[in-house]
Amino acid sequence: MAECIFCKIAKGETPATVVHEDDLVVAFRDINPRAPTHILLIPRRHVASLNELREEDDALIGHLVRVAGKLAGGEEIADRGYRLVANCGREAGQSVDHVHFHLLGGRALGWPPG
Ligand code: 5GP
Ligand code: ZN
Repeated sequence: MAECIFCKIAKGETPATVVHEDDLVVAFRDINPRAPTHILLIPRRHVASLNELREEDDALIGHLVRVAGKLAGGEEIADRGYRLVANCGREAGQSVDHVHFHLLGGRALGWPPG
């Protein structure tokens, strides 16, 4: 998976504004932000989509969600509200085949999405 852009960001081979990294998860600002806060959280390991997650990834995803909450606190949107969303597959608009969660906030977010 040498060509996966998010693997390259996780390895530091492609520049990104990284806001958190640990053994399991990397978080960085989206290159095309759709809200004042738009951070992507990814597992460090390449996983193509939510469909590929295994039972042994439960702790990884739980950790990722908690990191997202902490980042929301740092962005001062934890109390105002934020959205954590993962697009899976073509009809949901997944454009990078490495699992990622969008952390969005800092403005009123419409629902349901288009
Ligand atoms: P998706 O459409 O797959 O749910 O979200 C992919 C996201 O990755 C998009 O919001 C897009 O702007 C972002 N993205 C794509 N390539 C890069 C990149 O090279 N760097 C960063 N920081 N974000 C990227
Ligand atoms: Zn990857």
